[in-house]
Amino acid sequence: METVPIFVGGVWREGRGPRMESRFPADGSLNTVMRAASAEDVEAAVQAAEQAWRDPAWRQRLPHQRAALLLRVSELIDAQQERLAQLQTRDNGKPLAETRALVASAAATARYFAAACETLEGELTTPRSPGIMTLSRYEPIGVVAAITPWNSPVASEMQKIAPALAAGNAVVVKPAEATPLLALELARLFEQAGLPRGLLSVLPGKGSVTGEALIRHPLVKKIAFTGGTETGRHLAHVAAEKLIPASLELGGKSPTIVLDDADVEVAARGICYGAFSSAGQACIAGTRLFVHRTLWQPLMARLVELTRALRLGHPCQPGTHVASLINEAQRERVMHYVALAREEGGTVLCGGGVPSDPTLACGPWFEPTIITGLSNQAQVCQQEIFGPVLVALPFDDEPALIAAANASIYGLAAGIWSRDSARALRLAEQLEVGTVWINTYKTFSVSTPFGGYKQSGLGREKGRQGLKAWMQQKSVYLATAPGINHWSD
Ligand code: NAD
Repeated sequence: METVPIFVGGVWREGRGPRMESRFPADGSLNTVMRAASAEDVEAAVQAAEQAWRDPAWRQRLPHQRAALLLRVSELIDAQQERLAQLQTRDNGKPLAETRALVASAAATARYFAAACETLEGELTTPRSPGIMTLSRYEPIGVVAAITPWNSPVASEMQKIAPALAAGNAVVVKPAEATPLLALELARLFEQAGLPRGLLSVLPGKGSVTGEALIRHPLVKKIAFTGGTETGRHLAHVAAEKLIPASLELGGKSPTIVLDDADVEVAARGICYGAFSSAGQACIAGTRLFVHRTLWQPLMARLVELTRALRLGHPCQPGTHVASLINEAQRERVMHYVALAREEGGTVLCGGGVPSDPTLACGPWFEPTIITGLSNQAQVCQQEIFGPVLVALPFDDEPALIAAANASIYGLAAGIWSRDSARALRLAEQLEVGTVWINTYKTFSVSTPFGGYKQSGLGREKGRQGLKAWMQQKSVYLATAPGINHWSD
């Protein structure tokens, strides 16, 4: 198979690093072969980016003109939605229904940041002296690095590329090793939409080589990262050494809470979706379930029933709920945690192993699994598994529930199921997490900021706040009368 080119400083060419592959997770078949970006490629991409963002033709491009470019990209994505979704499924193995939604969200993100960029206003702040006008304005940062994981590539990548360019920066993307294809496709669409050369590069390769060279490059002035907490901590150290901002979207172990007044059917369906869609490979997966003891029996019975009825299948087959995991290593990680749960005294209510269906023997499927009989201190309750494993615990009173829900190093998201919205809102205020869903789960809006508390992250993506995160604020004082602040003699 011929190697496909990568996008370095606006030029499509073979990477100068080692050979790497994209494989279809469902059966391991080869999608594409390419050469990774080497340190020299990183140098070329960053130098081109530095030149491109400083070019007056780009610096002077007004917000509505940058917005027009993003709108063209969103139209190109919409026009090719099905092809892109198929490619995303080939690259990371999610069911087509999910990758169609991811591609649609990428188009929506481009549209949103087009609108946000065009309407983002500076301020005339209140002066403290007569004859002085004070202004606050937003300016680009320069060359920014965007580093993404494999679980929702096209969405994570657009969530960084769109605001970075809307803000007037140049962006160098390092996609995850396993899933390089959609970032390269996005680069083609931006090129087709007329993005000037050098403003976007896509450098597939290993985190420890390509990613490391990128984040350490002296011309890189911001790191935007989505991925695991340990990697995020390392990137934060590098950013601290360089004294540059880092925005970090990290791991989670999100609690979902069923209060005693919840609608059991609605809650069970939402919890099942929140834990097992994307085969649990989602930072926000609701993997710690707290159920009020009065509803424990009916809720758990219905949840097990719904979970057993989930259709495990080929990601391209209509109606598939749960496709394979990304690779064998991920399945081994999940198996390790289920074994650990058993050792710690847990009871596996359903799932817990590799499915027996011979048609699923071609890839790393794992059964959606529910475990009970553990405390919140158990390792499976405290560590991110990133697979289809839900641990359920009963609770009796709200103070103990809140303490247990918050007893985690993570603080990404939470779910609450209750018929009493005011009560649910009071509870939401007490949860140490960045997003709370009430009577719904995993619903998103690009205009609503997203990010984590505690070790789930730093900073926010999405929303107007998510655009300002890619800009530097500058204050300007303008004397409107002569002689302000001169020596008085
Ligand atoms: P990961 O941390 O292993 O890798 C993420 C990215 O970082 C990859 O592109 C990788 O190559 C790169 N990387 C690794 N080491 C690097 C280094 N030294 N320098 C620069 N780049 C480096 O994460 P993953 O396994 O790809 O993704 C799963 C993790 O992502 C989970 O923990 C999940 O919770 C998290 N995640 C978080 C969010 C969020 O928004 N909070 C969203 C999706 C995934």
